Amino acid sequence: MKIGFDLDGVLCDCSGTILNFERVFEKMNVDNIDKIDQYYYKERKPLLNPKLFMGEQDIGFCITSRPRKFRDVTNRWMNKYYSDIPVYLLKNEIKAKDCVSFDDIMRRVAIEKIKLIEELKLDVYIDDTPNIIYWMRKLNTGVKFIQYGGLL
Ligand SMILES: [Mg+2]
Repeated sequence: MKIGFDLDGVLCDCSGTILNFERVFEKMNVDNIDKIDQYYYKERKPLLNPKLFMGEQDIGFCITSRPRKFRDVTNRWMNKYYSDIPVYLLKNEIKAKDCVSFDDIMRRVAIEKIKLIEELKLDVYIDDTPNIIYWMRKLNTGVKFIQYGGLL
């Protein structure tokens, strides 16, 4: 079985408090916001060992909607904790400014994740965001989508 895992809020912890601070920093045009973000992603702690869900024959994958500029820090983090689980970033990055609402962001992220899920032929995908699970279930009937995890 091919099992896919979301990253933030599933395989690694996700701090809503820190992320909210970052939104404020962005609005204030604080310098070095990228460095703060890089540090944030580098310092995430493992939350779930994907191997606990996987039998010997199973293959694990990670799919994240993190922006492309965090590809390297994301690869390094995955290599450090779960080196045999490949991580995929969305092919088309979703930017909040291009979306009309929060629900639109969630729908677009779900669509882009489903493209990868179908390409990788996953059987199951686990994500912590209820709105993304909602859209995935609505858009794809062949894959089982499980909601697990969330903000700490
Ligand atoms: Mg998540």
